[in-house]
Amino acid sequence: RSLLRASRFTTPATTVAVVRSFASIEPYSDYGKSVFTGRVADEYLKKHGSSGDILKDPSWTASHSDTVAKAVLDWAVDRGANTYCHWFQPMASSGVRHGQTGQVQNMMMAFNRTTNDIEFDFDGKNLTKGETDGSSYPNGGLRATHTAGGYLAIDTSSPIFLRGDTIFIPSAFVSYYGAALDEKTPLLRSNAALSKHGKRLLAHLGLDIGDQDVISNIGLEQEFFLVPRDQYYRRPDLQMAGRTIIGKDAPRGQEMCDHYMAPPSLSSPALACMQEIQDECWRLGIPLKTRHREVAPNQYEFAPLFGLNTIQVDQNLMVMQIIEEVAVRHGLAALMQEKPFNDVNGSGKHNNWSIGTEDGIMLLHPAKVNKATGNDTAFAVIMSAIIAAVNEHGDLMRMAIASPGNDFRLGACEAPPAIVSTYLGEDITFYLSHFKDGKGEGEYIPKLKTLDLGTHEVLPFEVPAEDRNRTSPFPYGGARFEFRAVGSSQNVSMVNTVLNTIVAEKFAEFSDRVDAGEDIHDIARETLNEHWKVVFNGNNYDEEMQQELTDRGLWRIDSGVEAIATLTAEKNTALFQKMKVLTKEECESRQHILHDHYWGTVDIEAKCLVDMLNQHIIPSVKAAGVGPLSDLEEAVGTLKTAIAEIHAAEDSYKAAQLARVLRLETMIDIRAVCDAAEEVVPANLWTLATYKELMFLDQHTASTPETEPFFDE
Ligand code: ADP
Ligand code: MG
Repeated sequence: RSLLRASRFTTPATTVAVVRSFASIEPYSDYGKSVFTGRVADEYLKKHGSSGDILKDPSWTASHSDTVAKAVLDWAVDRGANTYCHWFQPMASSGVRHGQTGQVQNMMMAFNRTTNDIEFDFDGKNLTKGETDGSSYPNGGLRATHTAGGYLAIDTSSPIFLRGDTIFIPSAFVSYYGAALDEKTPLLRSNAALSKHGKRLLAHLGLDIGDQDVISNIGLEQEFFLVPRDQYYRRPDLQMAGRTIIGKDAPRGQEMCDHYMAPPSLSSPALACMQEIQDECWRLGIPLKTRHREVAPNQYEFAPLFGLNTIQVDQNLMVMQIIEEVAVRHGLAALMQEKPFNDVNGSGKHNNWSIGTEDGIMLLHPAKVNKATGNDTAFAVIMSAIIAAVNEHGDLMRMAIASPGNDFRLGACEAPPAIVSTYLGEDITFYLSHFKDGKGEGEYIPKLKTLDLGTHEVLPFEVPAEDRNRTSPFPYGGARFEFRAVGSSQNVSMVNTVLNTIVAEKFAEFSDRVDAGEDIHDIARETLNEHWKVVFNGNNYDEEMQQELTDRGLWRIDSGVEAIATLTAEKNTALFQKMKVLTKEECESRQHILHDHYWGTVDIEAKCLVDMLNQHIIPSVKAAGVGPLSDLEEAVGTLKTAIAEIHAAEDSYKAAQLARVLRLETMIDIRAVCDAAEEVVPANLWTLATYKELMFLDQHTASTPETEPFFDE
């Protein structure tokens, strides 16, 4: 087999993308064949006198790193790979950036300069550590350019994987002084806090879990748009900023909800594209189980089976990258941004979050946790801690979802989730309110009810007595909470870092109080009474209700920029420090970077708008001889002045505040003028792709892929 296979992915395709039957995948041998865990790791480690079991204890990086490196290399060679990288997640990696991850790819080769022989070369040191400069990344003051060393260390919680000719080693990225420069390190630290204090609480509830950790499982539902690629190239805003900054509504939007869950058309490139995405994920051991059309035209969703949070975050980043890459091969462009189009739904990423023990006791599952602890009210105690955490630190939850794109879904346009409350359902609410009032001691047993349709053919069937609430930002959904306000383009590490940290702190507080002699049930009752106001089962989209929640004093931060600023509020830096998740300096640097990221995003958008005005809209209006020409010309000046003011702002917070006004006020006013022009200019003179062309044109044209699928044999 040749070592260097340069032409592997360049074979020109002659076939049209066709929908395949899933049977084209070999179910047992292909699943997970490109990830070094389970069967694959076991097979290769056995060849080197060890076994897959050693990977379970992270200390293999000290004791067995050379053995693992040999096995990984062996696997790589068998699969035709000759390159490796430490794969990391730079800070504030949300928004529209291909892949959202960092990597420097090195060959696994030794070169003999005398003989010109080359051979494979990869050892334990190569595998477990990397050094990188990475000095061009924003660091928010954590590194000066003259002390810019960055270090990469393997994250043993998330498996190594192989894609194309490269081995990817999931890694943490820190400064020379150990400060977190990435999204992953804080998440790992929050896992440690959750485990430490979760174990303490479980012990107080009657369950000793020994060496096991308390872990968090998550499942990430990923929404996105697929639009025709030729039209995408006719929109500088989509290309540069990921969203349409102008654009008159098409005559049809989502009025009929007819895209929602509609049959994926066999003649549309979208289904073939989604299949290919699933196929690729399949090989990487990513169980992308669910696919469907979402409510906006050309909007889609994938959902995987849930799992350990670090692995899920890594896999979600790969899923987003794969979606973008595979879309190209089908003549499509994938839009991951939160609000690509006005007046139709934006895209979210529901973050389903639960906690449990390593051996599978689900701590948010009432029957299971009560049984495992032998304590009838263990579930009530755990829920009271979470309710308190949400009430006290709703500001941090809001901070964690403050990506620039999410400003259009939350505080500004799709309002409710900017107010942080939690839905428990009538049944649990009833139970917990009795518990908190000291009226009932017993166990919570979820009820079932029978639905009888009154027909002979559809027999009566059982459903949970608890309904679902899709307007709540953080509803309980049976053994998990679902953080529904998360943005589609986000790396959700910070989201989960916050959830873990705020809950760990409450677990710690409960345990400290028990250690000091208080009764755990009294603590839980008192806590529920203090924080009960954050429970809200009603309609979060109802404006009157929003006012009521605001009056109750729940966390409500409409502006993403202000939400970001809560990262350095004293209560929050104290929390992160106490839980050993982030130092004060790390909080400050992150806030700085998030604000830079925010105004940087708006800067790009505003400059796109200037170009679109000068190069497209104004010429179109002039050619047509109709439309608001002078208003458009004035808009160019307004934008340029505003951009200059942002650049001149004294710090990144101020710049972000100015940017937000520019984006949500000035640019929206200018948009109205542009859209009015689009309404009157004849179609043949309008040079930008319209909403109609972007959202409705791909459905019946199968396209020719430019390259062959990326699959390994
Ligand atoms: P829905 O749209 O009703 O919220 P989906 O089935 O589309 O439901 O997605 C639910 C997601 O939640 C999936 O990724 C699923 O694996 C995940 N999930 C289910 N149970 C748990 C749990 N206990 N902990 C974490 N994630 C979960
Ligand atoms: Mg959901």
